[in-house]
This record gives sequence, structure tokens and C-alpha cells, in this order.
Amino acid sequence: MAVLTCRGLRKEFGGHVVLDGLDLTVAEHQVVALIGASGSGKSTLLRCVNLLEELDDGTIELDGEEISDPRVDPDRVRRRIGMVFQSYNLFPHLTVLQNVTLAPRRVHRRARADAEAQARDLLDRVGLGAKADAYPDRLSGGQQQRVAIVRALANQPRLMLLDEVTSALDPELVGEVLAMIRDLKADGMTMVLATHEMGFAREVADQVCFLDSGRVVEAGPPGQVLGEPTQPRTRQFLRRII
Ligand code: ADP
Ligand code: MG
Repeated sequence: MAVLTCRGLRKEFGGHVVLDGLDLTVAEHQVVALIGASGSGKSTLLRCVNLLEELDDGTIELDGEEISDPRVDPDRVRRRIGMVFQSYNLFPHLTVLQNVTLAPRRVHRRARADAEAQARDLLDRVGLGAKADAYPDRLSGGQQQRVAIVRALANQPRLMLLDEVTSALDPELVGEVLAMIRDLKADGMTMVLATHEMGFAREVADQVCFLDSGRVVEAGPPGQVLGEPTQPRTRQFLRRII
């Protein structure tokens, strides 16, 4: 069964159609890369899935449950989804460990010692164990983004949404974040990621979706969409960026 099924998503901002009947299905353990020009609707799609935006039409199912139903509690849904943004959004007044344990303690009501043990274990695994008691401003951008990913993982999500997570990083720091996403894929995490890194999309994605004006214009294995696109708009986009 699919982890995520989006059907006919429609979203307007003040009469401007941003998602225009968008369909997307993500199977368990699958990695889907969203590509497309700035303004094509990638972030809006991810925000709709995490119920940060209200839909004008369409449905979203997570593990078969219709989460776009207005009667569904958005906080309960967000506990099952990990979202990471371009700007890491760590709390500057909290240490790395406190950032990572905040949601497990407050939202999941995990005991402090238990949440901290799990957080230290996650940080160790990504080579950030020594930074547990540091404040975010003492970390590089790449380290901060890795902490943001660990924080999202601490909720043990069913689905990770990653929105241009390397776009704000200096080029030499991009690799360590991509390596972490590669490891997540190897662990079987189901992910939807918006990215400008075509080389990475080709390597890590099972499916690439090209968005244009709020629609999936072309979707398929990376070799096909990036290597032999059938749609003129996909070809035009790839010519511009490669
Ligand atoms: P992408 O992530 O692909 O660059 P976005 O989803 O951020 O695209 O934006 C798609 C379009 O929606 C853009 O034209 C953007 O200006 C518009 N948009 C996004 N969020 C809002 C908002 N909160 N209010 C008004 N317009 C928005
Ligand atoms: Mg965006």
C-alpha cells in the first residue's frame, strides 16, 4: 500500500492557481524527487501534505487515512511526518540535544531520560554526538541542517518531507547532508524531496516528478525523466539548468 496518495490537489493564493489538479503516489521505502522551476509549486505541495496549508480541492491519504479531511487533527498527522526546510529553523536558545528532544518530550510525552538516550544515539549515528550540548550558532550550516534532520527523525516518522535542504549551504557542506539522506534511504525511509541537485536526484530517487505550473508534467525513473524526457517542458527546464 502507498504511504502517501495525493489526488487532484488544488491550491490557490488570491486567485493564483499554485497546485492545479496534482496527483502523486509514494510507495513505502520509495524516494520521490520533485524538480521544477522556482514557483512551480514544490514547497506548496510539501506544505499541503504536512497540513500547513489548506487545500481548495483534492484529497491526501497517509497510510490510507484521509488526512485532508477537515475533521482530522493536524498535530496528530504531523507526528507521523518529519519535515525539514531550507533554513534549518533550529531553536537558537536550545542546545542540539534540547532541539532534538523537544518534540518527543512535549508531543509524544516521552520521559526525559528516554528521549535523551534516543537523541544521543541518533546524533552519534550521524557523527554529531560530540555536539549534543552545543548551541546551534557553534555549528556549521551543514551540521545544523543534519541536526534539523535528526530532530525530524526523533519523531520516528512514516514519511520525511525535505524541502531544498541543501540550498542554503555553502557548496563544501552540501555533501555531508546528501550523505545523510543517502543513509536514510538505505534504512528504508520513505521520502519526498524537493531539490535542485539533479545529480543527487538521479542517484537517490526511485521516481522523479517534474512540476510545472502546479501539475506533474512528467514522472518516472530518474534515468527516463532526466535522461530521456518525453515532454517539451521537461526538456526545456533541463536544458536551462544543466
Ligand atoms: P517552489 O517551491 O516550486 O519554488 P512554491 O510552492 O514556493 O514553489 O510557490 C508556488 C507559487 O505560489 C509561487 O508563485 C509563490 O509565489 C506562490 N505562493 C506560495 N506561498 C504563497 C503564499 N503564502 N501566499 C501567496 N502566494 C504564495
Ligand atoms: Mg520551494
